[in-house]
Amino acid sequence: MILTEQHQLIRKLARGFAEKELTSDILDEVEATGKFPEEILKKMAKAGFFGIKVPRELGGAGADNRAYVIVMEEIARVSGVASIYVSSPNSLSGGPLLLSGNDEQKEKYLKPVVTGEKKIAFALTEPGAGSDAGGMSTTAVRDGDYYVLNGRKTFITMAPLADFAVIYAKTDMSKGTRGISAFVVDMKQEGVSCGKPEAKMGVIGCATSDIILNNVRVHKSNLLGELNKGFINAMKTLDVGRIGVASQSIGIAQAALDESIKYAKERKQFGRRIGDFEAIAFMIADMATKLKAAKELVYDAAYLKDTNQDASMACSMAKYYASEICNEICAKAVQIHGGYGFIKDYKVERLYRDCRVFTIYEGTSQVQQIVISRKLLKK
Ligand SMILES: Cc1cc2nc3c(=O)[nH]c(=O)nc-3n(C[C@H](O)[C@H](O)[C@H](O)COP(=O)(O)OP(=O)(O)OC[C@H]3O[C@@H](n4cnc5c(N)ncnc54)[C@H](O)[C@@H]3O)c2cc1C
Repeated sequence: MILTEQHQLIRKLARGFAEKELTSDILDEVEATGKFPEEILKKMAKAGFFGIKVPRELGGAGADNRAYVIVMEEIARVSGVASIYVSSPNSLSGGPLLLSGNDEQKEKYLKPVVTGEKKIAFALTEPGAGSDAGGMSTTAVRDGDYYVLNGRKTFITMAPLADFAVIYAKTDMSKGTRGISAFVVDMKQEGVSCGKPEAKMGVIGCATSDIILNNVRVHKSNLLGELNKGFINAMKTLDVGRIGVASQSIGIAQAALDESIKYAKERKQFGRRIGDFEAIAFMIADMATKLKAAKELVYDAAYLKDTNQDASMACSMAKYYASEICNEICAKAVQIHGGYGFIKDYKVERLYRDCRVFTIYEGTSQVQQIVISRKLLKK
């Protein structure tokens, strides 16, 4: 059995929290203001969601990847944007510190993120280096005990809200991806600024912006892991991060399916429930079948990680398939709702917009296809 009784209890806790705290009034306000209430974030931290996978000595729950998947899935089922706040400390932003940080760095930068006192961003992408992140042009040049950072990162989740950011920069221009290092940078430091928050299609309520680095002097003690090993750190972080996006996908897809079943039973046309029309019923059968298959892929990838098996391809498959079918399921959910699906009063409208980014961030679907096929076709 891939999921244990303990995992089922965690699901109950996360589902209960999401349904009680992430009310439709609060979510409407988040959409209207673009701001996520700090008091809810504090409650999420108190419930332990920001440190599910973080070791106990750093204030986390020390739970496994399956527990993380379940919490992400249940939170995303109610609010896609809330799940981003869960993934950040556990995965994309906390990941680099857990992988390469020394004790002092973990204590200083990760612990306050787990307790919800601070926020941290993960800054890899640049305007000219997205899928080809190794082609970045941000530099970090040694000057005595400091590195001087210059460059621009783009699309950085949480950047305008963050206290710290893990920033990847070239420390040796002659070595390609073997000349990239990771640094923890204080966002209040001189020379660091953020661009205007992007006006996004979905996951509104967690600001995304550029980070501009203008002669930022970072002490050498803020180098994360070994010099020139930053790209490996980023790739390993994304490897695990993919399970997070896959979990968001199955959470939102479940919500879209639930809404569709409910609506197909209620809505009547031609004197019958629309669910009695084969065209609608078969759409629902298709959605449920694909969602079930996606869940199996996601839990399996998490299980492989939990049992220390090679999970890289499984994580890519899970992210690729779950994010694609989530988009498909949400599009069908809107279709099943007819004109009402296009109106903001109906939940599927937001689900459709929120999931659009899942096939794009943390490695596009095409990048996942590259990862999967390279493994299969390796000589
Ligand atoms: C809301 C949001 C939040 C984000 N958060 C973060 C964050 O916190 N930190 C961070 O570092 N980044 C973040 N990103 C950036 C994200 O990871 C990138 O947008 C993504 O990696 C794609 O890069 P790109 O946008 O430059 O697209 P491009 O790489 O330019 O891709 C454009 C198209 O070309 C395709 N393509 C590219 N290369 C190939 C290839 N070799 N073969 C086939 N097709 C290819 C892509 O699949 C895509 O369809 C975020 C993005 C968004 C939209």
